[in-house]
Amino acid sequence: MLNPALIKEFKNIVGAENVFTDDADLLTYSYDAAVVKPVVPALVIRPTTSEALGRSVKVCGENGLPVTVRGAGTNLSGGTVPTAREGVVILTNGLKRILEINEADMYAVVQPGVVTAQFAAAAQAKGLFYPPDPGSQAVSTLGGNVAENAGGLRGLKYGVTSDYVMGLKFFDTNGEIVKTGAKTVKCATGYNLTGLLVGSEGTLGVFDEITLKLIPLPAHRKAMMAVFNQIIKASEAVAAIIAARIIPCTLEFMDNFTIRAVESYSRAGLPTDAAALLLIEVDGHPAMVEEDAVKVEEICRQQGAVDIRVAKDDAERDKVWAARRSALSALAKLKPTLVLEDATVPRSRIPEMVQAMQDIAAKYRLEIGTFGHAGDGNLHPTILTDKRNTEEWERVEAAIAAIFDKALAMGGTLSGEHGTGIAKSCFLEKETSPATIQYSRAVKAALDPRNILNPGKIIGG
Ligand SMILES: Cc1cc2nc3c(=O)[nH]c(=O)nc-3n(C[C@H](O)[C@H](O)[C@H](O)COP(=O)(O)OP(=O)(O)OC[C@H]3O[C@@H](n4cnc5c(N)ncnc54)[C@H](O)[C@@H]3O)c2cc1C
Repeated sequence: MLNPALIKEFKNIVGAENVFTDDADLLTYSYDAAVVKPVVPALVIRPTTSEALGRSVKVCGENGLPVTVRGAGTNLSGGTVPTAREGVVILTNGLKRILEINEADMYAVVQPGVVTAQFAAAAQAKGLFYPPDPGSQAVSTLGGNVAENAGGLRGLKYGVTSDYVMGLKFFDTNGEIVKTGAKTVKCATGYNLTGLLVGSEGTLGVFDEITLKLIPLPAHRKAMMAVFNQIIKASEAVAAIIAARIIPCTLEFMDNFTIRAVESYSRAGLPTDAAALLLIEVDGHPAMVEEDAVKVEEICRQQGAVDIRVAKDDAERDKVWAARRSALSALAKLKPTLVLEDATVPRSRIPEMVQAMQDIAAKYRLEIGTFGHAGDGNLHPTILTDKRNTEEWERVEAAIAAIFDKALAMGGTLSGEHGTGIAKSCFLEKETSPATIQYSRAVKAALDPRNILNPGKIIGG
């Protein structure tokens, strides 16, 4: 419990109704979507204006209170688990205004608590397109997306959140406003602080406003499902499509375990006897879409697809994408603990990675469902377990380390999109170097000398 004078000060800043001190409230904000130990914060506050957000950060800074900002808490790396030292959780769900959608210059300015899918729909209503679409988009916030540099199902063609962040206004550790980037297509003014802050997981600043690039909506699209009776053939088809220099907007993979879980959860009509599925969408100019769709279909058949189902209309297409987005929830229902991994490999190595996952599941006697953004080389092996079973949990930890080792040996990375948080900070050196960690710690120490902003995340300490 924080000192009552400070609680009073926060009540003055954000309003008494936006300060939470009850045990039940505090417990609610002690965890996120990652499998890491919960930590109950000392206080939770919910600013509803920029001014209140800035003043809250300032008071935390002045009093040495560690700040963990929380959007929707859907991150999978422990980024919103508070710190043990008198942690204050700042909720952004009161900062949810789309401040501007500029159709002429194709950008938007938003507050950090705007929900991703709601923003994409608002842009679409004006004929504009905001491509980043994490599987969690129905609830995740743009602030959380920027802080994690979230990817999504359309990453293959359209890239990830960082490709759309034109500028930021954020509060530094003293609660002072810092402005980066611009609303112009080009901006070479000053250091690239936007680049530094994107993916910083709340450790270097607290976003107050985000300027996002929008692009024209694609004129046409075509979605299809390719059915395989061998998992390895599906993964080889992914590599073959990319090798043929075709870039679908989406190229998703699901193994049989995931297909069955998703189908029993969402009844989308997926073929439950398939060894693996590829869900593919091409978009763009109508003529090009038709041409690419034919080529993709040909490649899938050459690579052994036993069936190809082209979505008849948008409703059918949306049903399948909704099913794919439900994969994590569907798998989560099967066992008490779900560990979703994010190791990513160069795309041509996908078949090797799929095989490695099967070998690791067999070696450590674990159930591992695999799905994910195969076109990006970003698979999500998902281990179903029960953390209370200590013997099995040791095997899970060994399997996770084996997955990372395998990905790194193939020239891959620990995280394609879920960030480092606390879940992966101990593995960081495996991918980088001791000097990289020292360098990162020096940046953090210079910008946040009292270690107030989301301490312990990414670089530990
Ligand atoms: C079912 C499911 C599917 C998912 N699918 C995907 C996917 O396809 N792609 C993907 O990339 N991720 C995915 N994720 C992970 C997660 O949704 C993303 O990381 C998302 O960006 C988190 O958004 P959030 O609003 O929940 O942020 P939170 O989890 O609340 O926060 C994430 C991080 O951002 C920081 N943060 C939040 N707001 C601010 C702010 N205003 N200023 C500074 N820092 C801030 C937090 O401190 C924390 O470190 C999925 C998660 C789930 C549960």
